[in-house]
Amino acid sequence: MGATVRLLVAPELRAFLPPRSRGDGGLDVPLDPGTPLVHLVPAAGVPLTEVGALRVVDDDAQVTPEHRPSPGAMVEVGAVGRPQPAVSARFVLDVHLGALARRLRLLGLDVAYGNDAGDAELVARALGEARVLLTQDHALLRRRALAPVPAADGCPRLARAAHVRGSAVADQLDDVLNRFAPLLAPYTRCVACGGELVPASVDEVAHLLEPGTLRTYEVFVRCAGCGRPYWHGAHGRRLDALVQQALRRHA
Ligand SMILES: [Zn+2]
Repeated sequence: MGATVRLLVAPELRAFLPPRSRGDGGLDVPLDPGTPLVHLVPAAGVPLTEVGALRVVDDDAQVTPEHRPSPGAMVEVGAVGRPQPAVSARFVLDVHLGALARRLRLLGLDVAYGNDAGDAELVARALGEARVLLTQDHALLRRRALAPVPAADGCPRLARAAHVRGSAVADQLDDVLNRFAPLLAPYTRCVACGGELVPASVDEVAHLLEPGTLRTYEVFVRCAGCGRPYWHGAHGRRLDALVQQALRRHA
């Protein structure tokens, strides 16, 4: 067997590893001399988007992803710190995260989502519009273009993409809000398209509403993007409860 580097992967990141390494997070990766961690860590399965501190155990030294470990070195791979700084507080979500997209929009976040966006389109949108790509697709996250952007010396790199933890949408929402701690502004965006909500007169929206709604409510807004009308109560009690819970836990 040729030269290897031993990676010691933090518990939060072990789901990315091959099954045999998930128990203790240790695995040996083949080392072509001079290969930097920026290649070695994704080759072990762990996307750079999820990686925080890197430490060479023998030297007890923090290193950057550009560090080229010596044969036989042991490198600790930590998870990103939270909250993590990002290229912006705007997001683009992959096709499987539609429910999460609606909840983030309900909380006022700028979220791009299309139910037919392919991987190339998602990456192009993330880079072109400086949005953080949210996905559960490990292979997509390992793309080099999505690796965090170097910041000023000594500052954490800026996220350009992130893995979303959890299968239930409530868990996914908690994970994203916990990771990026974005400012929340509930009821300021259209949940359907993400457009901003602007004040609307009754005359502007009357043709879009049921007579009962028109009789019951006086204050309306509409989406500047798709024109959809909203009024207090349009979201219902269930969504009000979601908003209150998010504000309690994350605002
Ligand atoms: Zn809209």
